[in-house]
Amino acid sequence: MSNPCALPSLSLPPTEADLRELPKLEERLRRKVGVCVSEYGLIEEGDRILVGLSGGKDSWACLDLLLSLQKRAPVRFEIHGATLDPGFPGYNPDRIAEVCEELKVPHTILSAPVDALVRKKPDITPCAICSRLRRGVLYTHAKTHGFTKIALGHHLDDLIETLLINQFYEGRLSTMPLKLISDDGANTVIRPLGTCEEEDLRRFAWLKGYPLVPCGCPLCGASVLESSRAQIKALVAQLQTTIPDLKYCLLRAMKNVKTTHLLDHALLALPEPPQAPKRVRMRLQRENA
Ligand code: SF4
Repeated sequence: MSNPCALPSLSLPPTEADLRELPKLEERLRRKVGVCVSEYGLIEEGDRILVGLSGGKDSWACLDLLLSLQKRAPVRFEIHGATLDPGFPGYNPDRIAEVCEELKVPHTILSAPVDALVRKKPDITPCAICSRLRRGVLYTHAKTHGFTKIALGHHLDDLIETLLINQFYEGRLSTMPLKLISDDGANTVIRPLGTCEEEDLRRFAWLKGYPLVPCGCPLCGASVLESSRAQIKALVAQLQTTIPDLKYCLLRAMKNVKTTHLLDHALLALPEPPQAPKRVRMRLQRENA
């Protein structure tokens, strides 16, 4: 799938007519982020928030909307930016650093040598190496520099796609949480854009004139993970033509779980069923692979 950030209409500067949309769109996004932050307790007094800034539309929107929330929120919190440099040829985070300087946001570029590591381990899926490494570098930086929260720019479309991918490919009912405490308790990840639609964020970042910095990964759009996401994205888009309220219905569904109407043994306080012998499990895994 082609990179949606590269759509021709968004590679041109906005016209005056386009810019007239901005105040209304900005107000809508600010309201959604404000409600999400307060409803899920994402930000507290004295928080030091590290925003993951890839230079993509979502990360710029996340930074911008948190900066505007900072001005009007009843609690005080700090905002810093961090960009992971994966070492892909052609990736240049300098423009991100420049914009942060203009916005007076302290910013750090962290080395996360995905490119080098992927080449060293050709038998492991690159996206698995990539996400593990990026998470590790960001978590370590946040922990050693006293950041209380890490803010990521995942949005409603990401939550919906993950919800469906987890069901369709992994047999699990779950999505990206809006607030997640790491296993060792040292890091808390927040997703303040979790109820905002991707299309609104893309348009917002474009109208605000943020530069879109391509990540330079040669696998973008080609990896297995990316192709399942693209497949689910296309399915959601197709269903939306006949169910216009689909995304908001799915959002309501994620907030309205009837645990007694599912089959999870733990939720129903039932003993776990006996597991099939290992050789049968392995045969089933092979058949399902
Ligand atoms: S496609 Fe995305 S997740 Fe996979 S290696 Fe490239 S940047 Fe990382």
